[in-house]
Amino acid sequence: MSAQDRIPLTRPTIDDATIAGVVEVLRSGWITSGPKVKEFEAQLSQYCGGRPVRAFNSGTCTMEIALRIAGIGPGHEVITTPLSWVSTSNVILQVGARPVFVDIDPTTRNIDLSRIEAAITPATRAIIPVDLAGLPVDRDALYLIAKKHQLRVIEDAAQSFGSNWHDKPIGTTGDFVSFSFHANKNITTIEGGCLVMNTEPESRLAEQYRLQGVMRSGYDGMEVDVPGGKFNLTDVAARVGLGQLPHLDEFTEKRRALAQQYFKLLSSHQELGLQLPVADFKHSNWHMFQIVLPESRLKINRAQIMASLDSAGIGSGVHYPPIHLFALYRRSGWKEGDMPHAEYVGRNILTLPLYPTMTTMDVERVVNALVTILQANIRSD
Ligand SMILES: *Cc1c(COP(=O)(O)O)cnc(C)c1O
Repeated sequence: MSAQDRIPLTRPTIDDATIAGVVEVLRSGWITSGPKVKEFEAQLSQYCGGRPVRAFNSGTCTMEIALRIAGIGPGHEVITTPLSWVSTSNVILQVGARPVFVDIDPTTRNIDLSRIEAAITPATRAIIPVDLAGLPVDRDALYLIAKKHQLRVIEDAAQSFGSNWHDKPIGTTGDFVSFSFHANKNITTIEGGCLVMNTEPESRLAEQYRLQGVMRSGYDGMEVDVPGGKFNLTDVAARVGLGQLPHLDEFTEKRRALAQQYFKLLSSHQELGLQLPVADFKHSNWHMFQIVLPESRLKINRAQIMASLDSAGIGSGVHYPPIHLFALYRRSGWKEGDMPHAEYVGRNILTLPLYPTMTTMDVERVVNALVTILQANIRSD
C-alpha cells in the first residue's frame, strides 16, 4: 500500500467463500427469506446460548417489534440515552410512546445508570440502553434497576455483537437484545439485524410482526391478528451473515489490537488534552474508536479537523449528535442544557478509522495526521 491510499472510517471484510456462497444463493432459485435465514437464525441462537432469535432486515425494526411484543405504546414512557443513532429513540415514537432521555456518563459515554431511577414515573415501561462503540453498559446494575421497577429492557446492542459482560457474550443473558448487521457493524448482512427473546411465544409473535402479522396453517390456512410490517431478511443477506459469523473472534481481536495501538500512540500526546475512550480490553468489541476533542482550546472547529483529515486521505465520523436536540425531539420540549454531558460529548466526539483489515501502520498514519492538525490549531494552557 502506498502512503496515498485512503483510510476509510470503516469497511466490511467479506471473504471469497462468502461471495461464492452468495452467487450460489442467487442461482438457487430461492433468493428471499428461506433456508439460509433459518440456518443463520440457528447459528445466532447457538451463539446466544440457545435463546430464541429471529432475523430481520434491520436492527431498527427489531427494537420496534420488541416494544410491540412488550405491549408498549401510547401513554407509556421509555427511558433511553441521548447519545446514540437516532434509531434508538425513533422506535419509541413509532409505537406511540414517549422517549425519556437520561444523560450519559461522560467517561463511558453510555447512559448514566445512577440517574435512571430519578427519571422513572408511573408511565415508565422500559429502558433501552445502548452499548456505544461496543462498550457494554453495566448489566448487573441495569437489571437491578429493571427488576426493582418491573421494567422491560430492550438492549440496543447494535454495536456490541462480540462484546461480553463478565465473560458472557452480549445476547446470552438479559431481556430483549437487539443486534444490527448494517454494513458498518462488526458483522454484517449488508442491511439486517436480529432480536434475541426469552420465550417461544415471543418469538412466534416476532415472526408475525416481521411479515404483515400473518400466521399460516396447513396448505391453505391464513390468519392475521396483529398489524405486522415488512421486515424479513433475504436469503442472500443471510448467506453474507453466515460467512461473517466464523470470523467474529478474529475481527474482534483485530479491532482490539488496533485500539491498543491508538492508545499507545495517543498516550504520548497528553499535551493535546484529548479525552480517550475507556481502555477496556475485556468487555468491548471495539466497534469504534472515539476521542473527544478539547473544545475550549481549539482554534478550529470539528468540521475543519474532519476536512483536514479528509485531505490527508483519512475518513472520520461523528457518532453522534445528541438526539434530544433534533427538531423532532425539541418539538416535544427537549432543549439545550437538558443533557449537558451528552451535549458536550456530542459536540466534540470524533470517530477515527477502525476496521479489521486496517494495519497498525494505518493507525500510525491516522494519529500522525491528527496530531499535526491539532498541534497547529490548539492554544496551549
Ligand atoms: C446501527 C444502529 C442501529 C440501527 O441499526 P440498523 O440496522 O441500521 O437499523 C441502532 N442503534 C445503534 C446504536 C446503532 O449503531
